[in-house]
Amino acid sequence: MFFLYALNDKIKDLTPYDPVEERGQIHLDANESFLPPPPELLEEFSEIAAGLGYNRYPDPAAGKVCRAFADYYRVPAENVAAGNGSDELITLLFSGFLQKGQAFATLEPDFSMYAFNGAIQEARHVAIGKRSDYTLDVDEVIAVCGREKVKLLIFSNPCNPTSLVVKREEIRRLVRGVEALVVLDEAYMDFSDQSMLGEFLEYENLVILRTCSKALGMAAVRLGFAVANQRVITALRSVKAPYNVNALTQAFGAAVLGKPGLLRVALKTILDSKEQLAREVKRIGEAFPGKFSLLPGETNFLALVLEGPEKLYRYLEERNISVRLTGGLLRVTCGAPEENEAFLKAFRAYWERG
Ligand SMILES: *Cc1c(COP(=O)(O)O)cnc(C)c1O
Repeated sequence: MFFLYALNDKIKDLTPYDPVEERGQIHLDANESFLPPPPELLEEFSEIAAGLGYNRYPDPAAGKVCRAFADYYRVPAENVAAGNGSDELITLLFSGFLQKGQAFATLEPDFSMYAFNGAIQEARHVAIGKRSDYTLDVDEVIAVCGREKVKLLIFSNPCNPTSLVVKREEIRRLVRGVEALVVLDEAYMDFSDQSMLGEFLEYENLVILRTCSKALGMAAVRLGFAVANQRVITALRSVKAPYNVNALTQAFGAAVLGKPGLLRVALKTILDSKEQLAREVKRIGEAFPGKFSLLPGETNFLALVLEGPEKLYRYLEERNISVRLTGGLLRVTCGAPEENEAFLKAFRAYWERG
């Protein structure tokens, strides 16, 4: 039998996204927050769940949660659109702003979902490498984008997986220097201080993405935001599915974003964990000079540079510790004290046995 729906070239070799799921596993592999919501927030979630209008469609504009986001980050609410995670917003930007065969650029190594979305969109991928120390050569990026007629440039800042942040001054120069729509993914910017949210309206070609999945500790709820000028936000709202963000997520998100005090405490707890992990990893590095180096990151994870990271990855995996191997780097999310301790113990033992 010959079927007309035979899998086409762009999907025939794809496999479903496969996160590490085993129970009892120490998860330092997905850059989530290790903190559960505080009791005060859990109580509010219960009240929201009990009072929700389950039989009605949610607000297609996600107005309340966009206003809560706008208040928390001090941007105008009219310039905010919500998505089912920033993952959805990335997909919408690729489908809305790129036509088949047009060029998009990524700055490698970076978040793998960018290239994935480009492939599904049948766009042309221009992969621009970073320097050998993983820093960005802005002049090179501007030159390549011009030469290759790049329509959409997407990158994360701070970067996943390198953890490095590019200074605002460099971002300004980059956005001004290209004709492409620049999608600036600030998924980890809560951990740093180089956000462009304070000045996004000065640019015709800038979209900023933020997520509730990392510093805000709400990965399960799936909520992300895009911030841009009116023209881009209207286009984004026009290409999205009407009810892309469900009513529970909208209400939970508004509750979380309405508690800046709680969020500040959580952020400090995560940063303390990161600092502790980094301090101990550096100490181990001093005992084993030349074996690995730690990039000077500003995120909730560490990026380690070493020869043959697969070996260390497997060693940790055998001890039920999941980290991430990506872009040639070993990426370790900071965890609760006992999780950091378990990682550090295994990490030290790995180098000690030589
Ligand atoms: C985790 C992550 C996201 C995904 O965020 P969601 O809102 O959970 O979809 C986006 N960009 C980068 C760089 C990330 O690391």
